[in-house]
Amino acid sequence: MLFIELAQTFEKMEKTRSRIELTYHLVELFTTTPAEIIDKVVYLILGKLGPDHESSELGIADKIVIKTLSHSSRIPVDKIIKEYNSIGDLGEVAYKFLTERTQSTLFAQVLTVDKVFSTLLKIAHTSGVGSLDIKIRLVNSLINSSSRLESKFIVKLILGNLRLGIANFTLLDALTLAFTKDKKNRVILERAYNVSSDLGKIAATLANGSLSEVQSISISLFTPVRPMLAERAVDSPEALKKLDGFGLAEFKIDGERIQIHKQGEKIELFTRSLENVSSNFPDIINMIKLLSPKEMIAEGEIVAINPNNLRYLPFQNLMRRRRKYKIQEAVKAFPVMLNLFDILFIDGNDTTNLPFLERRRLLKFALKDNRSDRIKLIEQTQVSCTKDIDAFMTKALENGCEGLMLKNPKTEYRAGARGWAWIKLKKEYSGKVIDSMDLVVLGALHGKGRRVGKYGALLLGAYDRVNDTFYTIGKVGTGFTDEILSLLSDRLSKLVLQGKSPRVEAGSLMMDVWFEPRVVLEIISPEITLSPIYTAARDAVNLGNGLALRFPKFSGKIREDKLPEDSTTIDEVLELYRNQFKQKSN
Ligand code: ATP
Repeated sequence: MLFIELAQTFEKMEKTRSRIELTYHLVELFTTTPAEIIDKVVYLILGKLGPDHESSELGIADKIVIKTLSHSSRIPVDKIIKEYNSIGDLGEVAYKFLTERTQSTLFAQVLTVDKVFSTLLKIAHTSGVGSLDIKIRLVNSLINSSSRLESKFIVKLILGNLRLGIANFTLLDALTLAFTKDKKNRVILERAYNVSSDLGKIAATLANGSLSEVQSISISLFTPVRPMLAERAVDSPEALKKLDGFGLAEFKIDGERIQIHKQGEKIELFTRSLENVSSNFPDIINMIKLLSPKEMIAEGEIVAINPNNLRYLPFQNLMRRRRKYKIQEAVKAFPVMLNLFDILFIDGNDTTNLPFLERRRLLKFALKDNRSDRIKLIEQTQVSCTKDIDAFMTKALENGCEGLMLKNPKTEYRAGARGWAWIKLKKEYSGKVIDSMDLVVLGALHGKGRRVGKYGALLLGAYDRVNDTFYTIGKVGTGFTDEILSLLSDRLSKLVLQGKSPRVEAGSLMMDVWFEPRVVLEIISPEITLSPIYTAARDAVNLGNGLALRFPKFSGKIREDKLPEDSTTIDEVLELYRNQFKQKSN
């Protein structure tokens, strides 16, 4: 398949604002893509070179691309930089300037999808002495061989800013339609995705095999499983009712969820959003090596601790471990502990279909030879009345936890699903303050006064999974330290779009800048009110009004571990809105 064919589809997708049309373009593309390269096409659509947990960074800076473009187009570097500063996207700059040249000099070879993909992989995998020169040569070879449209998308892929606005769920829809012609089969693809986290693999299995082969994709070591998630309860009576009167209560620790994959001495750690963070926790890895199971997939919460008394510390301390350099210093300065709460695989056996009570027994067994005080089975107790829950909640809070997780002992591990088999109960629910929300930054107003040159108020959105759309819910401008504000401005400036993302519904609201929905912030707000301006749950409570946060404040937590699709949903916002009245009447 020629790369130009893919570039032409990308061009159509970029101009599309409707999700249905995007799905249609995808279906058309998948039906004409040769089976041997369909996995690569899927990864490229997502701007990646592999599944999330393997995706490699190319390590190419803007200035290298600027030099290459200048060389190819014979336009001075200064002029390219000026244009870049005004458009904000080097792919678009390439498209613009390469038109000013005659195309004849550009076509050194015909580019296929395979060739582009393998060259990008080579760029990503080249390391060591002299690697930069090799990378530059490879970038040059791609750009010099491409037409203007191809170079536009090659540059975007190289710099990691191809933004077609396609969510994983849209891809699942399109794959279902293209290969099975029946929407009902989507559940089969979704299950395979939840255990393999690899859309490329699912596409290849469908294209080369059959739906039944997709059905038999199962959990495997070093392929992260999408995590099981919890519903939230307002109070202990509600939680107990949802558990049919009996459950297992655990501490809900304010750390980071980690999925551990172990095979002998080989150990890898993945976050909730499937990022491989093994390099950040060499101390944890050394301890896991000593555990008796040869093979294991387990889950737990890593939390920062005070090494003198092993007490849990707030989440912000843990974030200091997320760095690329000086890891050993960070290990010493910010000690952590691992609290295990589930097991998905042990010595050749998939345990996800076992009831939770049985999995807990296996987890205990897996830890039988553990001698380290930095690995623990999470604190757990049985609860059969609200008094039990409330007493355990007090104990959890005294120990520095966020609250409790209450789990149904009979339920299997439901990968990727949020449901009442796991229930979170946080301390705020019992008081007047409503719970924190994880919201996506959709846009911004320019800063004024002390914030000139940075973003001022940030527009926040909640997610609706059915429409794969982010709806607006308010603007936040407080709770930011100067340090966080610079960090955020830096991150957000890489996500600037020419206009609003097709996945955002903002009504007539105008912002100075729009972003690709990607950054998730934890926001606290004392109240949710009705508003004619914002679009979250518009018309659901009151005709013409949506829901808005009153006095929203950033909690200090950037949810690095959450994908935008994992943010607080419209349904949750509605429930929180309604709970306010329940609390008032109690
Ligand atoms: P939150 O925003 O409340 O942290 P979340 O949206 O990240 O939640 P939920 O499924 O809603 O995810 O809550 C479960 C999260 O709580 C887990 O992802 C995990 O990080 C954390 N956690 C802490 N203690 C436990 C525990 N004992 N069992 C399961 N998860 C726990």
